[in-house]
Amino acid sequence: MTATISGPAPSVHLQGHAHEADLETCLDFVNTESYDDGVPDEHLAVSQDVIAWFEEHGLAHQPALRAQAAAGGEVWLARVRTVREALRAVWDAEVEHRIPDQAALDTVNGVLREAPRIELVAGDGCCGVGHRHSNDDATGEALAVVVQPLVRAIAAGETGRFRVCANDGCRWVFEDTSRAGRRRWCDMTTCGNRAKVRRFRSRRRTGHADEATGDPVGDAAPATPPA
Ligand SMILES: [Zn+2]
Repeated sequence: MTATISGPAPSVHLQGHAHEADLETCLDFVNTESYDDGVPDEHLAVSQDVIAWFEEHGLAHQPALRAQAAAGGEVWLARVRTVREALRAVWDAEVEHRIPDQAALDTVNGVLREAPRIELVAGDGCCGVGHRHSNDDATGEALAVVVQPLVRAIAAGETGRFRVCANDGCRWVFEDTSRAGRRRWCDMTTCGNRAKVRRFRSRRRTGHADEATGDPVGDAAPATPPA
């Protein structure tokens, strides 16, 4: 009985073009604003950047997304960035074991309400799983799909390896998949090495052994001093 499903001109799509995201995709989205020595580097500078990002990740039907972007202009772009900012705020709060700002929660919850609905559909002699678009907010639907993996991780209590790069000028978000679970930097060859150079110099200045813990690399001098 399909008549129970309402909404403006809905369309059902079988999995196979499923708009699905994993936590990595979610983090990739957050990191579209990266930092270099604390200076933001905006990878979603114009609407087309957002459309291309969603396209790369197979997260939206392009015509609907493009139409919304064209109609919304800067407001549309700002909405996408606001969701990204809220995701970072939630991630940071999880890493720091504190409650995020209510505004961030409200923003995330706002897009969750736009999530495409999962449903069973009659397939070829069996059931298939499809999803139904409301077709009135393709952007909200795509954002919801990006947000969902983070919500699922929190629901499952799987936040113990959420990390933010220990370099304050970087703040790259990532999940620590190392065996020991002691990864602190986005990348040892950049941020990790930079931190090491600082400690090495500070040791030489003070003549004291460095007591920093959690550095998986050891105490040898860094290979490449920073520029
Ligand atoms: Zn970093």
